[in-house]
Amino acid sequence: MKLHSLNTGFFKLDGGAMFGVVPKQLWQRTNPADENNLCTWAMRSLLIEDGNRLILVDTGIGNKQDDKFFSHYHLHGTDSLDGNLKALGFQRSDITDVFLTHMHFDHVGGAVERTEKGLRPAFSQATYWTNERHWQWASMPNAREKASFLADNILPLQESGQLAFIDAPEGQQRVGTPLGFDTFVVNGHTDAQMCPILDYRGEKVVFMADLLPSVGHIPLPYVMGYDTRPLLTLGEKKEILTEAADRGYRLFLEHDPANETCTLELTEKGPRLAHTRTLND
Ligand SMILES: [Zn+2]
Repeated sequence: MKLHSLNTGFFKLDGGAMFGVVPKQLWQRTNPADENNLCTWAMRSLLIEDGNRLILVDTGIGNKQDDKFFSHYHLHGTDSLDGNLKALGFQRSDITDVFLTHMHFDHVGGAVERTEKGLRPAFSQATYWTNERHWQWASMPNAREKASFLADNILPLQESGQLAFIDAPEGQQRVGTPLGFDTFVVNGHTDAQMCPILDYRGEKVVFMADLLPSVGHIPLPYVMGYDTRPLLTLGEKKEILTEAADRGYRLFLEHDPANETCTLELTEKGPRLAHTRTLND
């Protein structure tokens, strides 16, 4: 198996929203804000080469929304899904599976493309993986998450026949998948978000998605304001970050603007950053 980090681009989000109840004086040490209080974040996907499979974990924000939508998110830099896929020697039609941690637009936007004939899956040969609980939650969004679950990202996948569900029974935090890896299933950020756990070069690599967006979010109470159940996130972080520190897991950071992966150590104050490095160093 071979893993590649694939940044689909950088965007900006309000620093306060990204750190919930944590004061700016604390979070700005790791994530400095611009004059509009916005911080820069990556949308870093993971590409898994495994036998006959080429699996893309999350897809970034994509490019099909209108200018008004994108004006809120300040996309910048030269990284793109297509550009970085090509740099690795692949094209979209090579992708056999798209694994969606959850359906928020900065994770699933690139899964669908706009053509003259309308919206359609951007990966013509791929099976798109989510789970039924999250799919129901995203398809009938509550008022709080409505702006994050775009019909443009959901309906074309529903109609495509390319959608498949991982079996993720309620109350089970770790489940197997047909893709050769297990996944943590967590419910604090949104319902049934999935974080893949991969065996790679003698280590466990966990794709943290929005359970741990960046190294700035390692202290347990540093929970995003977007989370629907912050106290549940707190418990899930405590459990999984403690396990990660104990067993030396490498954590893949989807949104960290600078660090691809990190490891943790346990201190009196709880889990703290041990080391950062790129995925393949
Ligand atoms: Zn999210």
